[in-house]
Amino acid sequence: METDLFIGGKWVSSEARFDVLDPATGDVLASVADGSVADAGAAVDAAAAALHAWSKTPPRERSEILRRAFELMTDRADELAKLVSLENGKALVDAKGEVTYAAEFFRWYAEEAVRAEGQVTIAPSGANRIVVVRQPVGVCVLVTPWNFPAAMATRKIGPALAAGCTVILKPASDTPLTALAMAAILAEAGVPEGVVNVLPSRSSGQVVSAMLKDPRVRKVSFTGSTEVGRILLAQAAENVVNTSMELGGNAPFVVFADADLSAALDGAMIAKMRNGGEACTAANRFYVESSIASEFSAGLAARMAALRVGPGTDPSTQVGPLVNEDTVDKVDKLVTAAVSGGASVVTGGSRPDGPGFYYPPTVLTGVAPDAPILREEIFGPVAPIVTFESEEEAVRLANDTEFGLVAYVYTGDLARGLRVSEALEAGMVGLNRGLVSDPAAPFGGVKQSGIGREGGHEGMLEYLESKYIAVTW
Ligand code: NAP
Repeated sequence: METDLFIGGKWVSSEARFDVLDPATGDVLASVADGSVADAGAAVDAAAAALHAWSKTPPRERSEILRRAFELMTDRADELAKLVSLENGKALVDAKGEVTYAAEFFRWYAEEAVRAEGQVTIAPSGANRIVVVRQPVGVCVLVTPWNFPAAMATRKIGPALAAGCTVILKPASDTPLTALAMAAILAEAGVPEGVVNVLPSRSSGQVVSAMLKDPRVRKVSFTGSTEVGRILLAQAAENVVNTSMELGGNAPFVVFADADLSAALDGAMIAKMRNGGEACTAANRFYVESSIASEFSAGLAARMAALRVGPGTDPSTQVGPLVNEDTVDKVDKLVTAAVSGGASVVTGGSRPDGPGFYYPPTVLTGVAPDAPILREEIFGPVAPIVTFESEEEAVRLANDTEFGLVAYVYTGDLARGLRVSEALEAGMVGLNRGLVSDPAAPFGGVKQSGIGREGGHEGMLEYLESKYIAVTW
């Protein structure tokens, strides 16, 4: 298991270290090197020194390195999934899903690396040609959260490398081990020294801010909370650094009475319980047409109550512990406040005793419209259900949030499905689907859920600048 910093193609130790905990027990899993501001400077030196050669490396060669990284990740999927599950706590089945999803970003961007197309057009005046070429943005700082330690890293590293950029990845302190394992895989796949640097650090604020002040850094791509995203946007403004922001969500899951109820329940379980609810795409608020609300609530509660909760690494576990104690405290507080405000607990609803950061799958009905659980990201296995009477009311309730990452709609009427999808203020809509994530699709939010897209063709454009050359020929 790698536990040191990865800078300039070498493992660099550090006297300062921090502990990574096992969320199933609270015990120490590993002691990881704690990157300092000086280490961040060394990582930027390495990334800047490697930039020219990497940006000039033929796209086909960059593509083949990414393809090898995909193959290595796929060969080691079980081993990597175990590591993800160990440090994050998620059930092994979720961890395997994540590793497959993560590896797909390397495959997709291996395919996109050779397609950084520009364009040539004749100016409307006819006087000249307009030539547009795409060039790598430069040195990129990538900051990732703990909830998808593998996929959030590959979703940034894949397109950055495909575009010809070099990177410094600052993983979340709760889950740095997966990022370090990925650094080893990328080096083995043939990524040259300095192109990918990984810098775990407990002093995230200082380390990232120091890198953003360095004029050689031209891009920051961040996935995490809206609160930290705002801080980084402000810091990036100083040097006018290019930004991509994948921030928090508060996804509505809307079920109309004409929906296939069993499909809606299956979709609800995926949208709510993938990753134990610790996903930015997690259904956070369920809006169900009142005529089917009791049937839907009973069906959801039965499915939630049947889930096996236990240590993530136990293959029979369906829901692992949450990542840390603070997350359990937050979920518990939101449920308690909802119940004090009049909500009824249909299943779950109370925090268990004993070691580990567990919270049971929970369904709440009769949740008051002003309950904090409908406003804040729950990030846990809790489904609050609210009823509605009309399409107009459903859209109004769904849009009543400052977030706009994803929304889910279930209806048997395709025209209504498309009409509502257009009316929803979200970067993504799952129409009769509880899962939208796909490496080949542009993932991202509107409003305070972010700026920019990851995945798909758009994902690589985030790491490319368009240069316009006016030519007389
Ligand atoms: P977070 O607290 O915002 O942390 C995210 C990353 O930022 C971590 O690496 C963290 O390092 C670092 N960080 C914290 N404070 C910082 C600062 N002042 N300056 C620079 N970096 C800083 O978020 P999280 O709790 O890890 O992740 C959960 C959040 O991520 C949720 O809101 C979720 O919705 C969002 N998310 C969004 C997407 C998306 O695609 N839209 C995907 C996944 C997750 P430390 O760990 O050392 O604090």
